[in-house]
Amino acid sequence: MSAWNYSRRGALGLIGAGTAGIATGLARPGILRAQDAARVVVVGGGFGGATAARNLKARAPGLSVTLVEPAERFYTCPFSNLVLGGLRDLESIGHGFDGLRAQGIEVIHAMAEDIDTAARTLSLSNGSDLAWDRLVLSPGIDIRWNAIEGYDEAAAELAPHAWKAGAQTQLLRGQLEAMEDGGTFILCAPENPFRCPPGPYERVSMIAHYFSQEKPNSKILILDAKDAFSKRGLFEEGWAALYGDMIEWVGRSGDGAITRVDAEALEVTTEFGQVHKADVLNIVPPQKAGFIAERAGVTNESGWVPVNPITFESEQVEGIYVVGDATIAAPMPKSGFCANAQAKVVAAAIVAELDGQDPADPVWINTCYSLIGPEYGISVADVYRISDGAIAVAPETGGVSPTGASAAFRANEARYAMGWYASIAQDTWGTV
Ligand SMILES: Cc1cc2nc3c(=O)[nH]c(=O)nc-3n(C[C@H](O)[C@H](O)[C@H](O)COP(=O)(O)OP(=O)(O)OC[C@H]3O[C@@H](n4cnc5c(N)ncnc54)[C@H](O)[C@@H]3O)c2cc1C
Repeated sequence: MSAWNYSRRGALGLIGAGTAGIATGLARPGILRAQDAARVVVVGGGFGGATAARNLKARAPGLSVTLVEPAERFYTCPFSNLVLGGLRDLESIGHGFDGLRAQGIEVIHAMAEDIDTAARTLSLSNGSDLAWDRLVLSPGIDIRWNAIEGYDEAAAELAPHAWKAGAQTQLLRGQLEAMEDGGTFILCAPENPFRCPPGPYERVSMIAHYFSQEKPNSKILILDAKDAFSKRGLFEEGWAALYGDMIEWVGRSGDGAITRVDAEALEVTTEFGQVHKADVLNIVPPQKAGFIAERAGVTNESGWVPVNPITFESEQVEGIYVVGDATIAAPMPKSGFCANAQAKVVAAAIVAELDGQDPADPVWINTCYSLIGPEYGISVADVYRISDGAIAVAPETGGVSPTGASAAFRANEARYAMGWYASIAQDTWGTV
């Protein structure tokens, strides 16, 4: 990616910024300053959106910050696998928005339905329109319905994806509870890129934990559309240590990619025509950026959003910043930690830009913990910087948990995972 030219900011004097919602008291004609109550609207109250809103307001208290999110309570995908494994209840991973309101952020519970990028307005499901000077989108993922034949919204009520937490998590948990001992749970994992690369493998680990306690004769089959997966060696070591041969993984070259789902029969058909029958079927389907990104005209043919790697401003529409899973930010994974880190950089970049300054050089950190058992955690961590105009893993940083570690080491990592969850929830929503 070519180096981004920040001099355009000065040259344009933020042309187009003056069309909507601008308060009085501008520093210079045509220039918005953060403290002059420029209006920033944030779409999505998950990891990226809530963090962006909180950090915008913290950096520039005079800024008018509005968050648009339909849910009054947000349920995190992180630790939803623990709910499936019976280690947590759903309420323990729910977060409200009072922490944001207490900070002076306006929170509107509605869906953003459309965006007029010329007029700089957003239309909401409650019938109102919101004006914005800068827009932050963190809508997460949408499912590509019917990308796998037979897997549509109705099928997801029988064979849940549970890749957005809440009702889908409860549905899958209920099915696992209702399953007889000796049953087969099948999880079908997608190709890259998708939300949370280690997520499917942590999920089967947590379900294996539940089965080992309650339904020890049951089996778990992972049908995978790829031949490699995140932290594979560590997962396989943990599965063998804790669950014997309960979990079987089949990669693409072993005919693991599915092409068809029959949700009524709980059957899937693979690329080479094998049919597998489940007692509980969990499809993690192909994904794309949340639909509002497409409405804003910021997605490309991949269905994801290309961004300026320094500021996460859309490459396609000026004034719109995108964070989190919706973006193309590889090698950063689609994780809550990354969404949170990206959102902080975006908040800093927006305030700098409004004040006519260049953005700082960003540095992001990501750590993904996965639980294989209640006392058995593993992790991967990386630091990212800009190199040759693109996001890159910083040399000599990060790493994964060692293989062959002691039980005490794994127990400590499980404990760190609990600490990570509490701190990122506090940081994102202002409440644990
Ligand atoms: C099983 C599982 C386990 C995971 N575990 C981890 C983990 O341990 N650690 C980790 O870091 N990450 C983990 N993740 C990944 C993490 O959940 C995502 O990367 C993270 O949620 C991305 O944040 P986001 O802001 O992009 O999207 P989200 O957090 O999903 O937030 C998007 C929000 O936008 C809202 N929204 C969407 N469209 C609109 C619209 N048009 N108008 C208004 N609001 C809208 C949605 O309602 C939603 O609340 C896990 C994911 C899964 C599925």
